[in-house]
This record gives sequence, structure tokens and C-alpha cells, in this order.
Amino acid sequence: MIVAANFKTNMTRQSTREYLDTLDDFLATRHHDDDTIMVFPPATALDACHCAVKIGAQNAYATRNGAYTGEIGLEQLDEFDIRTILIGHSERRHILGESQEEIVHKFNFFKEQGFSIIYCIGEPLEIRESGSHALMEYLEAQLEDIDLGYANLMIAYEPVWAIGTGMTPSTDDILLIHNALKKLVQRPLLYGGSVKPENAREIMALANVDGVLVGGASLHIEDFKLIIQATN
Ligand code: PEP
Repeated sequence: MIVAANFKTNMTRQSTREYLDTLDDFLATRHHDDDTIMVFPPATALDACHCAVKIGAQNAYATRNGAYTGEIGLEQLDEFDIRTILIGHSERRHILGESQEEIVHKFNFFKEQGFSIIYCIGEPLEIRESGSHALMEYLEAQLEDIDLGYANLMIAYEPVWAIGTGMTPSTDDILLIHNALKKLVQRPLLYGGSVKPENAREIMALANVDGVLVGGASLHIEDFKLIIQATN
């Protein structure tokens, strides 16, 4: 299983360091070498981590370096040996206004660098309410021009209306959508959207759910540890 924590615009360099120390101690006591645990801290907390946790960037610009005020590029990630990135997160699509074209460009850039990419897709509520055909059409459009055969690709299915709201699709719905997605993409498929200790085990037990991407609940180390334990 893959269990990934997305801190978003939360935590500091200091609190991230403490969190990772605690997490690493916890992982040392487990015997589940098959699980991959990832943490995506804010850019200011990126650091080399000689630990069992894979550290990734929540975002970066598709450049090595250059005149892109406010952005970080490959050079800043290389400094800390960061080789994992989230691309296409719904907050970047819907709040920061990243277009599918920009997202594809970013994907291609980091793919060429060999990065592990968690590529996020998910539908807003009005699409969900339009029925399963509209829903799959929407998700397929988000996969357009993305190299689905890329060896270091993971997909995170995150319904926009489930992110940070406490609402989740039914397990039947997650199962149906993951089954349909697995026919399109034979890569690890994560579910994201209000995953918490109370629902993580049930979600991760579903066929074609290869892990979870966790936002809010990952900020509390004890909750994140419980979610990791739910992979057992
Ligand atoms: C996310 O933003 O990737 C996410 C899944 O958030 P939350 O767990 O808070 O819904």
C-alpha cells in the first residue's frame, strides 16, 4: 500500500522535522516493508531525509531554474534529492487556476526527469450529480495527453467535493470508479478525499485501491499512524 500525507499550506520546517522523526521511529517498529509512506510538506520544509519516508514536493514549476518569481524548480528540488511530486491536485486546478495544458506540460517535464509522479484527478459535485457517464468522461479528459504507461506514475482519484469536507463517496462508488480507472491505467491507484482513521481500513481493503492520499488527517501524527496501521 501507498500512504501519502499532503500537508498543503500547513506545518513549518521545525514541525515537519519533528513529525518526520516521530514517523520514522514509528515505521522502524513496523514489519511492513511492502508499504510506501510519503510526505508532501510545504516547499519551505523540503529537506533531505535519510529515513524510511519518501519526501515529495506538492508542486514545482516545469523548469530547472530561471525567472519565475515565487516558484521553485528542479534545482531547488535537487538540493534535497526530492524525486517525487504531486501534479494536478484539485486545489491547484480549481483555486490556483492551473489548466490541463499547463498540467500536461508539468507532467512531461518531470516525467523526463524520471520523477515519481502522483497525478491527481477528480470531479466536482455538479459532474458527480450528472451521472456515471459524465463522471467517467470528466476523469478521462483529465487523463488526456498524460503518458499512462509511465513507469513512475501513480494516480490519485480525489473527488473535489470530498476533499476537506468530511464527505466521502460510498465504498461501492469508490470500488466502481477504481475498477473503471484500472482498465484505463495499470498503475497504482490511490483514493483521496476525507480519509481518516475511521474509514481508512475499509477504503484500503477495496479492490484496485492501492493506497490513500491524506490531507487534513495527516496533520495529526497519531491519526496518520493509525491510517498507516490500517494497511495491515
Ligand atoms: C487532499 O487534498 O489531497 C486530500 C485528500 O485532503 P483531505 O484528506 O483533507 O480531504
